[in-house]
Amino acid sequence: MLGRVITTKVMDGRARIVCSRCKKNRYIEVPSGLNGKLVRCQCGVSVFVRFDRRVFPRETMSGRAMLVFPNGDRSPVYLCDYSLGGISFIFPDPHKGFLAVGQEILIQYPTLQGESILRRIRLKTLRANRVGAEFLGYPED
Ligand SMILES: [Zn+2]
Repeated sequence: MLGRVITTKVMDGRARIVCSRCKKNRYIEVPSGLNGKLVRCQCGVSVFVRFDRRVFPRETMSGRAMLVFPNGDRSPVYLCDYSLGGISFIFPDPHKGFLAVGQEILIQYPTLQGESILRRIRLKTLRANRVGAEFLGYPED
């Protein structure tokens, strides 16, 4: 018997699945790179879940990145999350005064494939140590 296939969105590394029979909600962890998984509800219904990252491409990222200032200074930051349009990160306290909303800066970070990428960003939000930024243009070499 063929199981049902549903497509569900992934947000922050988790997907919400609603059982078609008992209507029970559950959240499952979705490792990056996983495109689908057979999920079995406690009521016995199995469903094959496809994970759609295109609808909500924001994913939780962790790891270190490097800000590259126009004068060549570099400062380490900690990535929070990432989408096609922007990126957010934690900026360690001692350097906080160097950042301002509207500032353009380069950020170097590892992609999920393990490559190093350098992109131009514009800072949009500064809240405590958390910085949100939008990407400008395309990746640079
Ligand atoms: Zn169920």
